[in-house]
Amino acid sequence: MAFWEEKSLVEMSDAEWEALCDGCGRCCLIKLEDEDTGTLITSDVRCKLLDGDACTCTDYPNRQKQVPDCVKLTPQNVGEIPWIPTTCAYRRLAEGKGLAWWHPLVSGDPQTVIDVGVSVKGRTFLETEVEPDEWEDHAVDWPEWEPPEHL
Ligand code: SF4
Ligand code: SF4
Repeated sequence: MAFWEEKSLVEMSDAEWEALCDGCGRCCLIKLEDEDTGTLITSDVRCKLLDGDACTCTDYPNRQKQVPDCVKLTPQNVGEIPWIPTTCAYRRLAEGKGLAWWHPLVSGDPQTVIDVGVSVKGRTFLETEVEPDEWEDHAVDWPEWEPPEHL
């Protein structure tokens, strides 16, 4: 049995925990807040440390020093943060859904995250290159999209 099937999130080693990330990059997109309703909207603007093609953090060990509002996921907070994508492996496990077939640990191929459209690879803008008056134009709903299980 695979480690993510036999262990709970709190029982996993650091290496197992890190291996769960599917590398989609969705949690590193900037959230916009609707001033009237307080609703959080995801944008296609990426954190200044996210590599837009590799979808990895370019300074992972120091990420919270460099980006103070970067949230470190833990077994305790993953079920409580509303903007964690529904496709996120940590959220899926916290909700008892298991890993999707396209997760690299299941498919054996990181490309499947890209093929099903979950990855943000190649479709984001760097936050330092977006003018403040253009931010509203970057609200998008595709980061919320979830591929059907049969895809
Ligand atoms: S949303 Fe989840 S699976 Fe995707 S990059 Fe973030 S932590 Fe990893
Ligand atoms: S600092 Fe790194 S991990 Fe944190 S949001 Fe930015 S790119 Fe993602």
